[in-house]
Amino acid sequence: MTTLGANDRNRTSTMTTYALVSVGCPHCSGQFLENAKLVRPDGAAWCPHCEKLFTLDASDQATRRTLAEAKAARRRRKDRLNELRATWKDVPAAAPAKPILMSDVLRALDELLLRLDGMTERKRG
Ligand SMILES: [Zn+2]
Repeated sequence: MTTLGANDRNRTSTMTTYALVSVGCPHCSGQFLENAKLVRPDGAAWCPHCEKLFTLDASDQATRRTLAEAKAARRRRKDRLNELRATWKDVPAAAPAKPILMSDVLRALDELLLRLDGMTERKRG
């Protein structure tokens, strides 16, 4: 198991593959980002500031807000993924049904080279 440094856990990036949610630590009241997938009622969280494990207690008001944020973030991510999947479905239909053969590729290359030769000839002439 790899341990992430405090900087890795706190880096805000728009290119993350998962939804992040800001979690407040009840021990040191520090804020850190956690994968929304892991932020669930009675789930465990690890604070990178004081390095303490704590349980996400849904009876706590601040934690309840964090849990709601995580849920919303998960939902947004799911919607976005579904959107992406919908566009992916169109791709195989547009792609050629038969596998590309090496001979086809070579023939296409030959034609391309001939055409390029013709272009240079014309330029010279
Ligand atoms: Zn802490």
